[in-house]
Amino acid sequence: MTQTAHGVEFTQQLTETPKSADERAAILANPGFGNYFTDHTAVVDYSVDTKGEGGWHDPRIEAYGPISLDPSAAVLHYGQEIFEGLKAYRHADGSIWTFRPEANAARLNNSARRLALPELPAEYFLSAIRELVSVDQEWVPSGDGEALYLRPFMIATEAFLGVRAAREVSFRVIASPAGNYFGGELKPISIWISREYARAGRGGTGNAKCGGNYAASLIAQQEAEANGCQQVLFLDQFNDDAVEELGGMNVFFVMKDGSMVTPALSGTILEGVTRSSVIQVARDMGREVTERKITVDEWRDGVASGEIAEVFACGTAAVITPIGVLRDANNTIGSADAVAGETTMAIRGQLLGIQTGTVEDTHGWLTRLV
Ligand SMILES: *Cc1c(COP(=O)(O)O)cnc(C)c1O
Repeated sequence: MTQTAHGVEFTQQLTETPKSADERAAILANPGFGNYFTDHTAVVDYSVDTKGEGGWHDPRIEAYGPISLDPSAAVLHYGQEIFEGLKAYRHADGSIWTFRPEANAARLNNSARRLALPELPAEYFLSAIRELVSVDQEWVPSGDGEALYLRPFMIATEAFLGVRAAREVSFRVIASPAGNYFGGELKPISIWISREYARAGRGGTGNAKCGGNYAASLIAQQEAEANGCQQVLFLDQFNDDAVEELGGMNVFFVMKDGSMVTPALSGTILEGVTRSSVIQVARDMGREVTERKITVDEWRDGVASGEIAEVFACGTAAVITPIGVLRDANNTIGSADAVAGETTMAIRGQLLGIQTGTVEDTHGWLTRLV
């Protein structure tokens, strides 16, 4: 494989029908989340050779468009799929940066091991992102809270119905301009406690970022919406109703003394890059952060007594979102007209500032793409 000083070389077969500048401007005026995609996609294929050895090959940038898959492709039947999510940010001087991509590359491989998919060398991951953002750089928005959301994913493409790890796999990256995830203003959200459904179990895939976890969470998300809540909270029902996380975000508690608590990684929680960055940023701000078990009972009692001052959720897509209310069929914890807490806002401001280049990046978290 060709490797240059900048990583892996991707061949380019650019689209003959890119969106016009006007079409793009219309999309970027109100992108929402996950609605629109850029003109290109990055692709790297993998196959096992006759000696049983696997190799990644044909790294390329091609036109964004439908994928041709055999109807017997393993991903369509056995769900052998993993993904990642990160963002490209445009700084004030026009340069484009991404945040901790090595962490996403490492997590992709962690997920790959769990789903019996091949690991992707980090330089392929980084080069795929760099090349895609480079050809589609006009798509990186510059408005407040806006970014180009990058979605790397890996699917089992082998045409074979037998049950085993696929021998043909494809890694791809698509990109979608993103506005503010929950709309413009930062209004605390309400959360529904899922009592009936779990998203993950001991020994399962909870700490892998795979589509199957999301498929398992959708019915609980529907239940949340039917009960007037925006997101669902998953508990470990076999461990005193310990708080795990939301369908796609980790959770933090700010205590009245200013210290913070987040559920300890237990194998059933996805380790967010935002989660680990929040822990670091909070410590940099002089706060004590503890990773430990925290139950729904402690949440309820803590909000009632004032011991818990703020609760927020975090993830790449929405960054940091205050949680106002926690509900189940019998109880409502917190208040629907809560406002975002001071600590929540301070940490959000610090993290967004680092990502968008207005706060000094003391940890070397940013990688320049363009
Ligand atoms: C992706 C994800 C998160 C957040 O991870 P980030 O790296 O912070 O975006 C949290 N929980 C689940 C289940 C996820 O899939």
